[in-house]
Amino acid sequence: MDNCIFCKIVAKQIPATVLYEDDELMAFNDINPAAPVHFLIIPKKHLSSLADAKAEDAVLLGKMLELAPKLAAQQGCAYVEHADGSKTGGFKTVVNTGPNGGQIVYHLHMHVIGGVKL
Ligand code: 5GP
Ligand code: ZN
Repeated sequence: MDNCIFCKIVAKQIPATVLYEDDELMAFNDINPAAPVHFLIIPKKHLSSLADAKAEDAVLLGKMLELAPKLAAQQGCAYVEHADGSKTGGFKTVVNTGPNGGQIVYHLHMHVIGGVKL
């Protein structure tokens, strides 16, 4: 999509600190982090928001969710259930949709935020 900043990141027309990339997904650090760890997972395919996703996108959305804990762990935010039942670490995942959801960039993205207790 013309004039979509995240499509431009996918096309390498503007720089980003890329944490992960495959044929369908990309993850890169948020330019204005809200916490020590704050990255975005996006589909390379332009979907303007979660409301634009169709049933055929379900696998893609599932891959975004599956990638989140893996990259969060690589960034030092692993969620761990210990043998004694205690839990440590973890992160927040957020998808803002539309003006009332606080969406600013209209290319579907999932925030992954951590490194501090939120
Ligand atoms: P939204 O409110 O749409 O869910 O959040 C958009 C996010 O994209 C914001 O956290 C903002 O800091 C981030 N962002 C906006 N423009 C850029 C950019 O050019 N590069 C990167 N890496 N992040 C961006
Ligand atoms: Zn886009």
